[in-house]
Amino acid sequence: MVAQLIDGKAIAGRQRALLAGEVVAFANAMGRPPGIAVIRAGEDPASKIYVASKKRTAESLGLNSWEHALPEHTTQAELLSLIAGLNAQEAVDGILVQLPLPKHLDTHSVLRAVLPQKDVDGFHPMNAGSLFQGKPTLVPCTPLGVMKMLEEIGYKVEGKRAVVIGRSNIVGRPMAALLLNASASVVLCHSKSDVRAETLRADIVVSAVGVAGLLRGDWIREGAVVVDVGMNRGEGGKLCGDVVFEEVFQKAAWLTPVPGGVGPMTIAMLMHNTVQAAKSRCKL
Ligand code: NAP
Repeated sequence: MVAQLIDGKAIAGRQRALLAGEVVAFANAMGRPPGIAVIRAGEDPASKIYVASKKRTAESLGLNSWEHALPEHTTQAELLSLIAGLNAQEAVDGILVQLPLPKHLDTHSVLRAVLPQKDVDGFHPMNAGSLFQGKPTLVPCTPLGVMKMLEEIGYKVEGKRAVVIGRSNIVGRPMAALLLNASASVVLCHSKSDVRAETLRADIVVSAVGVAGLLRGDWIREGAVVVDVGMNRGEGGKLCGDVVFEEVFQKAAWLTPVPGGVGPMTIAMLMHNTVQAAKSRCKL
């Protein structure tokens, strides 16, 4: 068997086209488009690229977007005061704090300061808790994008064995919750797990680790669905995932490539969350 590729770029394009229609409908009803404010602190080069790309996508969909670039030495109080101001602004439907923050800032309390209704990253404990209680509100973008991809290929998650590798709050944990909410039987692996023993039994494997070459062909079952969230720099600085592509390609039924898999879905889902936050705030 060779795998069919799940084309994240194409799926994200279709999601954006659907959203563009929702943006027009919102603007007609409210006299303004939905708006997202993105906060970046410090000079992390990757963060600059991500924020620019989020802003570009938002603008291409007709959303309002504002970037707040703060210096590296920004204090916790300054950052919290900016967030409080954005929480109170009517035209701001979504607030995103680009991570990682400079080390002297307390990420947890910064994320808690964002109004849950505007938390388009879905990282506020209130939104995370709702997801884990099976009542999702705003859901973290990357795992939400993975669920959309499974939906698009017509894969029925219910009753399947799913293994998620990685337990971060950004990807692994919410991914496990979404799969569980969709009635998969879920195993959540991490650095202390016997990962291969679990993946060999899995119908679905989602790898969100950040280690190139982690998931090999002889770690998965014939016909599994494999989603590679990892973003690593391989030989010659080339972007690659956690999966040994050539090996897993020979055994999986479906596989996401890197690049062109999960990555494009993440930004599309951020836009989706912004529009949903706007509609729900305005009771549309
Ligand atoms: P993270 O916070 O560093 O978490 C990594 C997780 O992997 C941890 O839970 C860690 O376990 C686990 N782990 C590390 N080595 C392992 C091993 N050998 N076997 C099993 N588990 C292991 O990373 P993250 O933020 O979730 O991101 C994970 C990857 O996804 C990164 O490559 C990141 O760049 C990528 N990513 C991609 C997108 C996208 O849009 N495509 C979005 C977000 C993240 P412990 O908890 O035990 O330490």
